[in-house]
Amino acid sequence: MTKAASQYEAPSRVPVGVDPTRASIARVYDAFLGGKDNYAIDREVFERVKKVAPEAQDLAWSNRNFLIRAVRFLVDQGGIRQFLDCGSGLPTAENTHQVAQRIAPEARVVYVDNDPVVIAHGNALLEENDYTNFVSADIFQPQQVLQNPEVCRHLNFDEPIALLQVGTLHHYTADNGGELMREYIEALAPGSFVAISHFYNPETPEHQALATRMEDVFIHSPMGSGRFRTKAELMKFIPGLEIIPPGPGLEPDIVLSDLWWPDGPLLRPLSQVEECSAAVVARKPIG
Ligand code: SAM
Repeated sequence: MTKAASQYEAPSRVPVGVDPTRASIARVYDAFLGGKDNYAIDREVFERVKKVAPEAQDLAWSNRNFLIRAVRFLVDQGGIRQFLDCGSGLPTAENTHQVAQRIAPEARVVYVDNDPVVIAHGNALLEENDYTNFVSADIFQPQQVLQNPEVCRHLNFDEPIALLQVGTLHHYTADNGGELMREYIEALAPGSFVAISHFYNPETPEHQALATRMEDVFIHSPMGSGRFRTKAELMKFIPGLEIIPPGPGLEPDIVLSDLWWPDGPLLRPLSQVEECSAAVVARKPIG
């Protein structure tokens, strides 16, 4: 391990794999999305969060739906043809490569995860897709990802890349996440994008309390991670980048995930939980 790599610590550095007695982030997320690839210990985390936030599944859906809209934007408007999807999760409907390659069949996607179950499912899904690869690495060790031979073989870092950290950085519980992201951003060519969605503490009296309760449950659950960061904390994850305006007529900003270029008008109020997920897309300046 290099000196740079050894400075980052997070509980999810040790993947739990197929151990049914330990909750895994990927399986817990699958349980939140209503999937079938999870064990009782993973569903227990979901049930515990539901006790303090009955609409807990919205945390996962806000995140996933943002991912789909952001990838569509990045290919269609951003002209991006290379994706580094950090913390891909278990394959579900509308994975990054499916959304991207529907618009641009030649778009390359490298998924990175450290959960062996995710890698096994991913490789099975991709047997016949030459433009998509799964890599096993620790996304909280940027050099492990950036120097991975498979990553370097499939992505050209001289050309723009979209780096996705969707639903991942809240599992990095230490305070130096900005430095971690800076390492990634330094490796990207100008014109590259970073897309992030993250558990959010909106700092309003009502939702701050909910965010704190959910964080407490996640951190003390068998999964052991899930930080709800404030906007100021999230801003540190995009050093030197230009934020893309999150909607028509809006100033560049980090916004609630559901409010980032929604697919259409919102006809119902956001749930309490939807108020606790934030997202941003930002670009590395060209000149
Ligand atoms: N990005 C997907 C999405 O938004 O739908 C999945 C998000 S899921 C909540 C987080 C994923 O990050 C899981 O699959 C988990 O295994 C992965 N993950 C967590 N910590 C990781 C680490 N240190 N290295 C690699 N992957 C990690």
